[in-house]
Amino acid sequence: MRIARFTNAKDGQGEPAYGVVTGDLDQFGQPAEDAVIVELVGDPMYVGLKVLEKEHRLADVKLLAPVIPRSKVVGVGKNYAAHAAEMGGDQPAEPLLFLKPNTSVIGPNDAIVYPRQSSHLSYEGELAVVIGRICRDVPPERATDVIFGYTIANDVTARDLQKSDNQWARAKGMDTFCPLGPWIDHPTVEGDLDPQAFIDGRRVQTFLNGNVVQDGTTADMTWDIPNLVAYISAAMTLLPGDVILTGTPEGVGAMEPGDEVEVFVEGLGSLTNTVIRR
Ligand code: MG
Repeated sequence: MRIARFTNAKDGQGEPAYGVVTGDLDQFGQPAEDAVIVELVGDPMYVGLKVLEKEHRLADVKLLAPVIPRSKVVGVGKNYAAHAAEMGGDQPAEPLLFLKPNTSVIGPNDAIVYPRQSSHLSYEGELAVVIGRICRDVPPERATDVIFGYTIANDVTARDLQKSDNQWARAKGMDTFCPLGPWIDHPTVEGDLDPQAFIDGRRVQTFLNGNVVQDGTTADMTWDIPNLVAYISAAMTLLPGDVILTGTPEGVGAMEPGDEVEVFVEGLGSLTNTVIRR
């Protein structure tokens, strides 16, 4: 089940609501032209799935980031060996965690702003995990119990500031540096997406102006999703709506103003954003 957050006003200024996107996706992760979004009552992470008798054509709404984390986006650095190698270092002995503020989150088709402080802005296409309930010290075998669903992220990084600052708060945390969307895949008993498939291996690709620049599989994560949830929740309480960015495969590179960047996750969809200089 694909849960999106949207507004009826195409300028994104209307009151946000949640809804379920119907129909199948094509091979490019795009919904059918006649797909609709069936509105839900309130925030399903808090009130459960209550469907309203109200639907909209998907083409008539503006999709927003499917979640604005109440407390945090937790990033995982160097979780794919080939990416750790291209960054010129070894893999850390344990997961390398960092935080992105919720003010960095933007939605599908929103603009990534190239900051004046940087001259090397990089994309990082990633599978993201959305937490569904308050939890701490979750054992790996219970991780799927606390996961609300999965979405797509671009862990935008000012690579030069990442090197010069040592701490990554600026390099990873500026406004617009966390595109999320286009929806959350919420595994359901009768749903066609098996949550285990995200853990076992889903293709993750990034396209820059239509050219493939990253092509990996979540099967190549050093620490898989259950172990990441366990490791992170041993350090900090996770709240409903918190997001975990699970790391990026190899192939990171620079984006320039005017570029279009698309992150595709097999079976989940595709997240597209453009880069602008303000
Ligand atoms: Mg990353």
